[in-house]
Amino acid sequence: LEYSNKLEAQSAELSRTARQLREANEKLTQLSVQKDSFLSQVSHELRTPMTSIRAFSEILRDTHDLKKEEMRRYASVIHDEALRLTRLLNDLLDLSVLESGQVSLNMREGRLAEVLDHAVSAALAGSTQRLQVIRRSEGEALQLCSDLDRLAQVFINLIANADKYCDAAAPQLTIAVRSGGGVLTIDFIDNGSGIPAEAQSMVFEKFARVSAEKAGGAGLGLAICREIMERLGGSITYLNGRRGGAFRVTLPVQGVALAAQ
Ligand code: ADP
Repeated sequence: LEYSNKLEAQSAELSRTARQLREANEKLTQLSVQKDSFLSQVSHELRTPMTSIRAFSEILRDTHDLKKEEMRRYASVIHDEALRLTRLLNDLLDLSVLESGQVSLNMREGRLAEVLDHAVSAALAGSTQRLQVIRRSEGEALQLCSDLDRLAQVFINLIANADKYCDAAAPQLTIAVRSGGGVLTIDFIDNGSGIPAEAQSMVFEKFARVSAEKAGGAGLGLAICREIMERLGGSITYLNGRRGGAFRVTLPVQGVALAAQ
């Protein structure tokens, strides 16, 4: 009897190991599929600017009677596309550092209002339209202890997106700060057409783009924001049920203290 009990235990152990192996194998296959699809998306994103750079540089090299104005136009296409490539590579690098978990945070104290002021001016520095930014700011006087540069990076991304996707006739963004229930909440709500319900869950994925015609970027910005907020112990979500684009950033209140007045 003892022998048969032992055998039964061993057989249970074996089938458990077999199941674990099967699961590990499935996970590996899934990761390999994800890696392939990531590589093919990256190659696709690199190919478009590379093709323009090649074509326009060939024209510049091979056409001898180009007018000055044409030369300038082609050179500036090459320049813009090179900038796009640089942005893409920087974003990919940033994302891979964040995803590897090996990012070192630079925690320091500062006022939320100052982080927001800086983000608004940085995000709108190169913008040609006059985005009206409305601040509802009960919680702005709060003193934070966080990686304020990373936090500003998230805000800059959200404000630049609002600037890009808001109503061009009367561009407007509301930034509302609240604190309560152990959480600091910062909402970014613009008056554009927002993100359709069926696309809301995928906008934080890499290479997600909803409205192709307006997107200048590669769809990495929000994926980077999500990684940063996770590293900072907070979150970023899309608020459905709003008319325009609506994003909510949260931070745990442990990192926040009331400002000494
Ligand atoms: P991108 O750099 O291409 O803008 P993001 O990751 O920042 O990439 O955004 C992903 C997609 O989400 C955008 O291409 C756009 O379709 C959509 N999106 C982001 N912000 C807004 C917004 N405020 N209003 C409407 N759509 C938005």
